[in-house]
Amino acid sequence: MYYYIKTFGCQMNFSDSERIDSFMQNNGFQKPIFNAEQNLTPEILSQLNVFIINTCGIRQMAEDRVFGLVRNLKKDHPQIKIVITGCLANRRDVHKRMKGVDLFTEIKDFPEKVESIMKKVLSKKELAAHRPTLYSSNNKKLLSYFNIRPKYENKFTALVPIMTGCNNFCSYCVVPYARGSEVSRPANEIINEIKNLIKTGRKHIILLGQNVNSYNSPSPSGRGVRGEGIQKINFSKLLRKINALPGKFWISFVSSHPKDVTDEMITTVAQCKKVCENFHLPVQAGNDKVLQKMNRQYTASDYLKIIRKIKNSFKKHKPDCLFAITSDIIVGFPGETKKQFEDSASIMKKVKYDLVFFGQFSPRPGTAAWKMKDDVSKKEKERRMKYLNEILKKTALANNKKYIGKTIEVLIDFTKSENYFGKTRTGKNVRINSKRKNLVGKIIKVKITKANIWNLEGILP
Ligand code: SF4
Repeated sequence: MYYYIKTFGCQMNFSDSERIDSFMQNNGFQKPIFNAEQNLTPEILSQLNVFIINTCGIRQMAEDRVFGLVRNLKKDHPQIKIVITGCLANRRDVHKRMKGVDLFTEIKDFPEKVESIMKKVLSKKELAAHRPTLYSSNNKKLLSYFNIRPKYENKFTALVPIMTGCNNFCSYCVVPYARGSEVSRPANEIINEIKNLIKTGRKHIILLGQNVNSYNSPSPSGRGVRGEGIQKINFSKLLRKINALPGKFWISFVSSHPKDVTDEMITTVAQCKKVCENFHLPVQAGNDKVLQKMNRQYTASDYLKIIRKIKNSFKKHKPDCLFAITSDIIVGFPGETKKQFEDSASIMKKVKYDLVFFGQFSPRPGTAAWKMKDDVSKKEKERRMKYLNEILKKTALANNKKYIGKTIEVLIDFTKSENYFGKTRTGKNVRINSKRKNLVGKIIKVKITKANIWNLEGILP
């Protein structure tokens, strides 16, 4: 029995797909073997029994690609059972319009729901053989998707979800509808997963959550204990626990909401030696009226105050380290005037970001902004994005120049034609020219010799 997973979207989706992968393989399914750079050929597709699409609904373009894929699969390979999970799985309008899908399932219900697909493609005997994996030891309660041990794609960097869902309802965002309310994983479960990752050689642990810093462990033991006297584990405490684990590894986290950034968190991030000096804090817009319409629950000055605290904390607790601040900004939100847009440019100049992920507003069905008039033209959205990108290029280059002459740690990802490529603790891409062997997967010291806008160059000291 063969399956394939196509993943669209963010790191959270890729992390979920690692769990789906493991679940399918533990239940007797195999992935067809083919070169990763080669596309799925008709021959490979004709072998498949199940095609899982882990979807993204953040922009119309991502959604259109899923519709196209389903249409083509149904037309050319009708034997394949199609499973839709991720952000589009819960959307009623998608259920109506997307023809030929065998199962729509939220990621957290995947183990339970996908059993119905298995029943269609596995014999009774094969199904019976899979019960121990589908069910927990007492054979009554289905395994939660968090409990599935993932098939990690990367040997050196691991994505670890610590919570899922979101309670914030930013007016443009589908996540609260697609993933439901926030659910945090028990801290002991996360710690055990990370201990195992460190044991198997992972050097960079990336903690994931839609709103990672609103993490709150259900109970210290993870057994659902409630009551007086039990201290819950918040995000800062979780970071300190992970930081205290033995071994040489880095810790990063995405994505944080400004309203949940506490003084405790700012101090913890700067004090913990293993936590990387890279703070991703989406601002989305620089104008208070736009922020209010986005339902972001902070003003531009609140945001700048947090950034000041983060910078001061890094300078105080890690005076010898460079740090990076990164963000997300949406251009062309409904009603955003040229003057209001200038406030996004202004906040970028004040913060001096290392990296910003820009997005053009794209109305998503079911969200509050869906009902607003999408009145900024495509051309104007593009102009605004280019304008902000020019500001980013200047601040990124100025920040990168601070690295020249410094010797810093780099985690090597891969090698190609006598060059090694890796990342700093601050998330900067680095190219190192060296004939030295076997550096992939290692954290090594690199002397930075050149700074470009989007990367650094260095040598082995
Ligand atoms: S915080 Fe806002 S943008 Fe982020 S996932 Fe939640 S609703 Fe979406």
